[in-house]
This record gives sequence, structure tokens and C-alpha cells, in this order.
Amino acid sequence: MFEMAKELFKQLFKKPFTNMFPAKHAPKSTVGFLKKVEEGKAKLNEPVPIPEGFRGKIAYDKEKCIGCKLCIKVCPANAFEYLEKERKVKYHLSRCTFCAQCVDVCPVNALVSTKEFLLSDYNKK
Ligand code: SF4
Ligand code: SF4
Repeated sequence: MFEMAKELFKQLFKKPFTNMFPAKHAPKSTVGFLKKVEEGKAKLNEPVPIPEGFRGKIAYDKEKCIGCKLCIKVCPANAFEYLEKERKVKYHLSRCTFCAQCVDVCPVNALVSTKEFLLSDYNKK
């Protein structure tokens, strides 16, 4: 119990190891911190490097797509819609869970996992 209280007390005076996220939507009460960063009075912690094989936002190359629908079959989140006229698919980012099963199954590499993960926004599209 004493050890826990000691650790807790120690942590109260340490700087945080995380950055506020997402900065662009930070509440007014925290904007002061970002201003300090700009003025060089505070420092943002360096982000951890993104590892190889990271499953981030899916990039879809419509030109490559042959409309085989395999991605539709494997997607657990129903993130693809088949466009009959074009014989292509439409990817709905807001439904995606980034499992990358569609990337593995696409026969023409029209789907690729990118390292992009900062996706918070008010706009679903
Ligand atoms: S990454 Fe997973 S959830 Fe996202 S579109 Fe591909 S199969 Fe669906
Ligand atoms: S698996 Fe690839 S080629 Fe087939 S429909 Fe999906 S994106 Fe297009």
C-alpha cells in the first residue's frame, strides 16, 4: 500500500508521456498547451515509429480493381459496396476495422494497408 502511494505521488510530478489527440479537435481548455509548444516552452513527445506490417487506413486503387467481389466476401465489417454499373467496389472507411483481410485476398493488389492512422474527423467520408 505504501509503495503504491509512493508511486502515485511520484507520478503526480512527472510530465505526461502521451500527446493530446487529436490535436486539431482539442478543447479550448487545452489549446494553451499547443501554444506553449509553438513558443518552444513545452515539448510534444516523439511518436513511436510505425512498425512494418502495420494495418492502417486501406488504400483502394479503383483502376486496378477487376470487380471480383472477393473483398466483399471476406470483409467482416461490410465496408464494401458493389457498384453494378462500373463493376468496381466502393470502400467505406467509416465501417472498416482495419483487419486487412481484403488486402490479403485481393488478386490484383488493388487494396493496400497504409501506415495512416490519424483518421479522427467530423466528416465520415
Ligand atoms: S480491412 Fe477488414 S474491415 Fe476493413 S475493408 Fe478490409 S476486410 Fe473490411
Ligand atoms: S478483391 Fe480487389 S479486385 Fe476484387 S473486387 Fe475487391 S478490390 Fe476489386
